[in-house]
Amino acid sequence: TSITNHMPTAELQALDAAHHLHPFTHGSDLAKKGVRVITRASGSTLTDSEGNEFLDAMAGLWCVNLGYGRPELAEAAARQMKELPYYNTFFQTTHVPAIALSARIAELTPGDLNHVFFASSGSEANDTNMRLVRTYWEQKGKPSKKIIISRKNAYHGSSMGSASLGGMSAMHAQGGLPIPDVHHIEQPHWYAEGGDMSPEEFGLERARQLEQAIHDLGEDNVAAFIAEPIQGAGGVIIPPETYWPEIQRICDAHEILLIADEVICGFGRTGKWFGSQTLDIRPDIMTIAKGLSSGYQPIGGSVVSDEVARVMDECEFAHGYTYSGHPVACAVALENLRILDEEGIVERAGTETAPYLKEKWETLTDHPLVGEARIAGLMGSIALTPHKESRAKFAAEAGTAGLICREACFGNGLVMRHVGDRMVISPPLVITKDEVDTLIERAWTALDVAH
Ligand code: PLP
Repeated sequence: TSITNHMPTAELQALDAAHHLHPFTHGSDLAKKGVRVITRASGSTLTDSEGNEFLDAMAGLWCVNLGYGRPELAEAAARQMKELPYYNTFFQTTHVPAIALSARIAELTPGDLNHVFFASSGSEANDTNMRLVRTYWEQKGKPSKKIIISRKNAYHGSSMGSASLGGMSAMHAQGGLPIPDVHHIEQPHWYAEGGDMSPEEFGLERARQLEQAIHDLGEDNVAAFIAEPIQGAGGVIIPPETYWPEIQRICDAHEILLIADEVICGFGRTGKWFGSQTLDIRPDIMTIAKGLSSGYQPIGGSVVSDEVARVMDECEFAHGYTYSGHPVACAVALENLRILDEEGIVERAGTETAPYLKEKWETLTDHPLVGEARIAGLMGSIALTPHKESRAKFAAEAGTAGLICREACFGNGLVMRHVGDRMVISPPLVITKDEVDTLIERAWTALDVAH
């Protein structure tokens, strides 16, 4: 049998439930509730197998920055596949797409982040970072510097290494995580954890936990600190303004490398090319993926400073993936970056769409269920609460309000994600003002259902 878009949805769902193991999905839900079969997409709109349309306020998984359906990317892939579908970048070889993409990334990234080690995903890139920073310190004659400090509720990927770096307790509970030499400090989540402190005081307090951890673990044992400029999968947690300057001061004062995980924040998401620019961070290493190719091909990487590259060049780094710098993925990423730049998409997202979206998004705080609405560029969140004044959480069925709201969004033609009782958005950068209006209307209706 050939399985196509034209099969009845129920048959597709049954086959899917029979043979397909899904990430982050409860297996029994597949059979019970059925799975949504997405068949095509264009711009910011998805279509499912029943012909329903959804405004995708998540850009897939925070990645389709360019929007769906750009034929130029398909053409770039086809051209590259015909010319050189695959070759590796190991053992003294390279190819033009990898050369061109690494040079372009070096131009776009701030400071002296001029060198790229390619991977196929953010998880792989963070695994690279773990080995890279430890190898860096070995090369510098400081092999005891091994510990990587990260944060609770961070998300850095799903491989053993990157999930250990992440601070998701549900992930650590499965499969024997975290692996050794990773240490987690608290997150700068003022709304949930700030108590009576002002956001400014709380930001400083949470940043200073890094200095305390370096002190407790011993500076000679700490290799690096890793963080998302704005935590994405943790619930779009925008830190208080005092947080990042203090983190930067601490990293400068102590001999540790700063890794900015820009897998979500990169490529225009926060209104500038990189979250590090929006938040004024000077990382030694940047993790990139997602928006690098707008999700049209799997590709990620670690972008490192001149100094890190200089030290690494003194050895053979015994690390690499078959698809490090895959030529088709590189060609597609290059075309994506060309369009994001030449059509002024990143620029317009930051200067026009972001202020418009912010104004509209913040009106959601008028809804009785919404305790706060935060947004930076085109990534935002609202906190659902039964009691706005005390910022209380929902009691027994934590997460239920968020889940109901997410399902109501789906029923109403909107894809929004929930993280516990936070609803998050990260739409394609090409979302129009009319679509922003639709997003807010549909979100409001879904909130009414959850209320
Ligand atoms: N880092 C961050 C900040 C992410 O949000 C993600 C994915 O959501 C990853 C890393 C992992 O990337 P991937 O899913 O491409 O492995």
